[in-house]
Amino acid sequence: MTASDKKKLKANNVKDCNQKKHVHVNNNQSDDTPVTRYIGTDYSYKHQIVWKNAIGFLILHVFALWGLALVITGTVSWKTSLWTICVLYIGSEGVTIGAHRYYTHRSFKATPLLRAILVTTQTLAGQNSMFIWCRDHRLHHRYSDTDGDPHNSKRGFFFCHMGWLMCKKHPYVIQLGRRIDLSDLQADWMVMFQKKYYYVLYLLLAIYLPVCVPVLYFGETWWNSLLVSYFARYVCELHGTWFVNSIAHLYGTRPYDQNLQPVESWFVSFLSLGEGWHNYHHAFPWDYKAAELTMHFNFSASLIRFFERMGLAYDLKSASPDMVTNRIKRAGDGSHYELGTEEARAAVTATGPLHPLNPTYNTTLKAPDVILKPEGLPLYHEHDVLNGDLNKST
Ligand SMILES: [Zn+2]
Ligand SMILES: [Zn+2]
Repeated sequence: MTASDKKKLKANNVKDCNQKKHVHVNNNQSDDTPVTRYIGTDYSYKHQIVWKNAIGFLILHVFALWGLALVITGTVSWKTSLWTICVLYIGSEGVTIGAHRYYTHRSFKATPLLRAILVTTQTLAGQNSMFIWCRDHRLHHRYSDTDGDPHNSKRGFFFCHMGWLMCKKHPYVIQLGRRIDLSDLQADWMVMFQKKYYYVLYLLLAIYLPVCVPVLYFGETWWNSLLVSYFARYVCELHGTWFVNSIAHLYGTRPYDQNLQPVESWFVSFLSLGEGWHNYHHAFPWDYKAAELTMHFNFSASLIRFFERMGLAYDLKSASPDMVTNRIKRAGDGSHYELGTEEARAAVTATGPLHPLNPTYNTTLKAPDVILKPEGLPLYHEHDVLNGDLNKST
């Protein structure tokens, strides 16, 4: 942000609240009032709880714990457990490769066969329709960590992890969501077919198929199979995705851009098939790897390269090494494993694995105050400003 931007911002809407600078957002903002000013987080805004959703998630977790207990105690066959892990893996790839790297970010191109595989496996995961998933995620990137972000991490761990799904949307999420260009998704008949028949497809692919196989082939009862292959599997997979929105926005380092809230987290990458290198991903959202090539646990990037060798994926987009190096030098917090400084790396310490869930983890590197211009952040390439330039990037 330039000096004149900062002045404008101060004059416009910054107020001092709890000794911290926050952008003032009118709590009584109507859904139709155009958002024309800088966007931050109004900490005085209180989200309204949607109790129906909260109770639904509670019930889901009770059944999921019951299912996990059946696995741990060996009540269900090892074949059922293995089948559940396979479904969990395939559904998770449907989300990371299908919903995230392909449909949201268009980081590579796919043949109709691969698109059909991605839409089917994303349905298996049950994380809402492809259309809704991508709309929310594009909004998350445009207005990351502000009131325009559906899961604004500035509102704390629980809110950005799963609390946002139990709250009424902030008016900025509703209004800025309408500005997100979804024309490419509307033009894709597979995405629109899935959207139209989502509930039927969900019943068939996310519930019936995973549950019926252990009953028909491994001798399980319908009830035990439902608890393990649906409830336990679904909740594990949801938390794997949610950790990207919570841990990977809150606890870790920012070697690529310290002005961005998201962080690098090997722990989340391990759980989410490579989605935890999140500071890199928000710096270069169009990169199919969502990480530097050298980073580990990126099973999704390896699978996209496999699809490329099979002729199913092509035109894989990647930030050039020069682009990455320049960004690290210009905006990084100095903690990069190769191009960082000893001093910045020393600001992050831990005994054993370097991760915030390790109780000895300590960092003096602080999160930025995220304040964005009304047009938000780039989504498809470095010079992208707002909607409608998807075609320019391809
Ligand atoms: Zn994110
Ligand atoms: Zn993303």
